[in-house]
Amino acid sequence: MNQVRTFSAVNDGHSSEVARILVVDDEEYMCDICTRTLRNASYEVVPTTNANVALQELREGGPFDLLLADIKMPTISGLELAKYAREIDPAIAIIIMTGHTSTENLRQAVQRGAADFISKPFELEELRLAVDQALHKRLLLQDSLRLRAVEQLLQSSEAINATLDRPQLSRVILQTALRQTACQTGFLFLVDSRNRLRKVRAADEVWHLLEAGRDAAHYALAKGQTFFIEDKAICSDGTNEITRGLAMPLRAQGDMVGVLLLCDNQPGVLRPGTHEVIALLANHAGIALRNAHLYGQLQHMYQRLQELDQLKSEFIAIASHELRTPLSIVLGYSMMVRDQSEGDQREYAQRVVDSAQRIKDIVDDMLSLRHLEMRETTLSINRCNLQHLVLQAVERMQPIAQSKAQEMTAELPEAPVTFLADREKILLVLGNLISNATKFTPEKGKIVVKAALWPGKQVLEVAQHTGGMADTAPTNADGPDETWIVMQVCDTGIGIPEHEQPRIFERFYQVAASLTRQQGGAGLGLAIVRELTALQGGLVWVESVEGQGSTFSFALPYRMEQNN
Ligand code: ADP
Repeated sequence: MNQVRTFSAVNDGHSSEVARILVVDDEEYMCDICTRTLRNASYEVVPTTNANVALQELREGGPFDLLLADIKMPTISGLELAKYAREIDPAIAIIIMTGHTSTENLRQAVQRGAADFISKPFELEELRLAVDQALHKRLLLQDSLRLRAVEQLLQSSEAINATLDRPQLSRVILQTALRQTACQTGFLFLVDSRNRLRKVRAADEVWHLLEAGRDAAHYALAKGQTFFIEDKAICSDGTNEITRGLAMPLRAQGDMVGVLLLCDNQPGVLRPGTHEVIALLANHAGIALRNAHLYGQLQHMYQRLQELDQLKSEFIAIASHELRTPLSIVLGYSMMVRDQSEGDQREYAQRVVDSAQRIKDIVDDMLSLRHLEMRETTLSINRCNLQHLVLQAVERMQPIAQSKAQEMTAELPEAPVTFLADREKILLVLGNLISNATKFTPEKGKIVVKAALWPGKQVLEVAQHTGGMADTAPTNADGPDETWIVMQVCDTGIGIPEHEQPRIFERFYQVAASLTRQQGGAGLGLAIVRELTALQGGLVWVESVEGQGSTFSFALPYRMEQNN
């Protein structure tokens, strides 16, 4: 007799090609002849003359594809056995052998779900035929049961995939598993960040998990396999215990994410076929749990980023306001001291003035960035001449370039170009870009400031195909058919690594290389450039090769004076 299994690996028997048949007849001669006939037909047969042994076989020796049972036996009738077999496997083929084919017997057999009956005495060929037909019906029934399960599973997986909230998802997974398996109760365990199993949810408040249930979940996780539990108290409601169940690991992309423990005193949970359905469900559940976990992490990080961004804004607001007044006092008095001193003392005072001025520049940048971000900056549109504008910006920065022996030139269209724009803001943008070019270009390097009219199509193509476009979209309807004014600052400096290019327009962002840091600055210039460009409906982008140089370009829609 088989040993009672407690923890054992799944073997659902479906892989075997040969059908297994349980033959039960208390008449030894009948049992033997049926067995021989079926074995001759190459079936695997387990014979018994004792209905109690047959019951045990069904429970522990299965799975069987067909039960061939005599209707009348001393302890348990063939119809009782059929009912039990059907509970274990709804698709099992059953043939009841009956001595007297009364209509009452037939009615009962149909009611109990017996697939067929055969009346004694029968020809051996008749038996073989009946078995073949019953097994064929079983295949059809199995298919339709699987189809129904898959249909239900699809509906469940919709529900499972519809939520990214982990507690809600755990509830849905348990509910779905219980519905699919008709189990009495269940528990869901999740693997935490330290690879430990945590019980997160019980299907209800009635049943409490016991040690054997927890052990089974740990086994399933450790072995990465489904484990059946029999004859061990898995959970209790205080009075009764559930002693059957299965623990199935939930996986996502090969990783264990949890374990599903299903419990039921009926043999249903151990039924072949049920386990296939739960395995499919477990796949969906594992992936959905992993998605929900990643989504949770993403949300948490996004929230932290937002908080950080908010902190930066508050810092800018406080620092710019609180530093301005004391800074003006320091600057004012140090200028006074400088003007009234001579020799070394004058030189020291000048250094104080220079440093205070540098701090004031940063504070001014902070303040103007804040105004821009709060949409408090307004445009003051006037008539501009492109050539004058660029030359003015170049002249302002020429002394700095000369101090580093850099050659700074302008390349401009020959015919004068006039347009409507906010002159001061364009000067600010150009000033920032040229200042960076001088800062990040070594001595004797070259800086060229270019301006030209470009077709909109070219602007959009170039800007969008570089990895370094600032995160601003044109705010107006200017598209590929319009003309744009493009200004560019090209240098032969240190360049910017490709992966850093998309980030340099963020406030406070500086490229990590030490050479950059040595140049001072607070990482605000390009953020201001981005905001100023966006304010005028323009685009800004960078093309750069590390070690060779950078070209910063900004484009504004070309607005001409109305001729009326
Ligand atoms: P900063 O005040 O630090 O110059 P910016 O916002 O103007 O701040 O620039 C951000 C970062 O972008 C700089 O710290 C530098 O790393 C990089 N960068 C800007 N312009 C250039 C350039 N022309 N060449 C190389 N790197 C540059």
